[in-house]
Amino acid sequence: GPDPAVILRADNVRRRFGGFTAVDVDRLAVRRGEITALIGPNGAGKSTLFNLLTGFDRPDAGQWMFDGHSLAGVPPHKVARLGMVRTFQLTRVLARLTVLENMRIAAPGQLGERLWAAPFSLAWRRREKENTARARALLARFLLDGKRDEPAGALSGGQRKLLEMARALMVEPRMVMLDEPMAGVNPALKQSLLGHIVSLRDDGVSVLFVEHDMDMVHEISDHVVVMAQGRVIAQGTAREVTQDERVVSAYLGE
Ligand code: ADP
Ligand code: MG
Repeated sequence: GPDPAVILRADNVRRRFGGFTAVDVDRLAVRRGEITALIGPNGAGKSTLFNLLTGFDRPDAGQWMFDGHSLAGVPPHKVARLGMVRTFQLTRVLARLTVLENMRIAAPGQLGERLWAAPFSLAWRRREKENTARARALLARFLLDGKRDEPAGALSGGQRKLLEMARALMVEPRMVMLDEPMAGVNPALKQSLLGHIVSLRDDGVSVLFVEHDMDMVHEISDHVVVMAQGRVIAQGTAREVTQDERVVSAYLGE
């Protein structure tokens, strides 16, 4: 049977664009309650793999299991409802909505259920209240509560990264996938993002994150997976993979 220590396991996941194979992953396992870093040169297929695993893109082949659920063919909102959420390399906060509105629309049951729920207005209002309270608590944790009524478009790049991470937590996920959460963020905010990732793990959330800065990877990762040219070419501790010849030559562009 499935290994309970593994929260996400993917087998033989492939994605081609025309004649080009972007992802060709024989096996990927993310361990429960750990921080796993996904590294690899630009174009290695990391973002495409995230898109596939979270239902934003469809593979040509492959199966993956998240916490007992087979997810191939499951759309993103259902993947999120099952407890796995992701952020994007380029943030997708809605610039014209306020920070708080961005949080509230990420709450479970926001799409499609509004009309249906309208007759049950007491239950509806109670849930709205709970969602707002959860949003405010998360904004406070990410030091954004003071900005809650400002349009998200007015935030700095780093604050958008924080908002995107906060927003992902609205569904109380058991696993988060963060695509370059630290890219373009100033050093002080980077440290605080690292702290947030560590506290996610401390809360029992499993984390898979893409990062290029090996110091950051060393600092917080329990496990590192290395991709190059669509494949997983190495895995182990940060120390192990940085001493691996295949990894070194992949970064040298061989
Ligand atoms: P990474 O995130 O590791 O930098 P990506 O997953 O973004 O890499 O891209 C992997 C490869 O797939 C790149 O060569 C990229 O150009 C290609 N690719 C990604 N998405 C598409 C697409 N929609 N159409 C064609 N090629 C794509
Ligand atoms: Mg990418």
